[in-house]
Amino acid sequence: MFENLSERLSGVFDRLTKQGALSEEDVKTALREVRVALLEADVSLPVARDFVKAVQDKATGQSVTRSVTPGQQVVKIVHDTLIDVLRGEGDPGALRIDNAPAPILMVGLQGGGKTTTTAKLAKRLKERDGKKVLMASLDVNRPAAMEQLQILGRQIGVDTLPIVKGENPVQIAKRAKTQAALGGYDVYMLDTAGRLSIDEELMEQVKAVRDVANPRETLLVVDGLTGQDAVFTAQNFDDRIGITGVVLTRMDGDGRGGAALSMRAITGKPIKFVGLGEKMDALETFEPERIAGRILG
Ligand code: GDP
Repeated sequence: MFENLSERLSGVFDRLTKQGALSEEDVKTALREVRVALLEADVSLPVARDFVKAVQDKATGQSVTRSVTPGQQVVKIVHDTLIDVLRGEGDPGALRIDNAPAPILMVGLQGGGKTTTTAKLAKRLKERDGKKVLMASLDVNRPAAMEQLQILGRQIGVDTLPIVKGENPVQIAKRAKTQAALGGYDVYMLDTAGRLSIDEELMEQVKAVRDVANPRETLLVVDGLTGQDAVFTAQNFDDRIGITGVVLTRMDGDGRGGAALSMRAITGKPIKFVGLGEKMDALETFEPERIAGRILG
């Protein structure tokens, strides 16, 4: 899918650049192909439509058809527009983690990469920012998930809250808060339970934890390969819980740029990080230029 988008756009623009002078109709035809390519990459219809309209307006405004290199100019406009939509405001990698101990709430569906991302981010905060981090798993229904976080913690040298059987997520969150304060931690990360789909119980549980922890950042971790489903999930979590940012995982695979574009355009929430593999170092600050470059091929 990802290749398709890149190849198609390159194909369209190669033809445009070779052609020299362009008519309005040429530009329209090319933009129709851009739209189809975006839809195929799982960008949602309204986003693709708005995007193409924005490009068309700019192309008309800049009298693209009368320029010496019309094709290149259209490519540049598409590229710049992509970056505009993807970037939003602020510094993507920046987290509000002053006022120690700062709680970070990690939310998302099961299998999206939440636990892995919690550990990756903890490692990054420790190594890049020199923060003392405590991680706690609140997934009381899945003991394996709690153990997974402990194992990752040992691997990266980050403390995890000891597991106490029989506690509910709110109790664990409170204990994490106390432990973080007593232990002089800068940040404590709460890895909430995930479910295979969004349900009432999950949302109520996460809400209760949010109310106790009062997180500085609530990061939604979603599988970037799920395209529009990822955007739907983000909207849902934002409506119910209120998220401050998104981490798109599995962008190392045949990652469609589409999810990133729709995510920004529809939710308005910043994509802060991207997951680029299973290893603990495979987390990077979201870079609009890089994604735009990949989308364009
Ligand atoms: P959770 O249920 O949301 O906590 O998901 P996990 O953190 O357990 O991740 C599920 C699987 O996805 C694991 O096998 C992870 O190693 C893998 N995974 C997580 N993030 C990434 C990523 O960015 N790229 C790839 N390729 N795999 C990932």
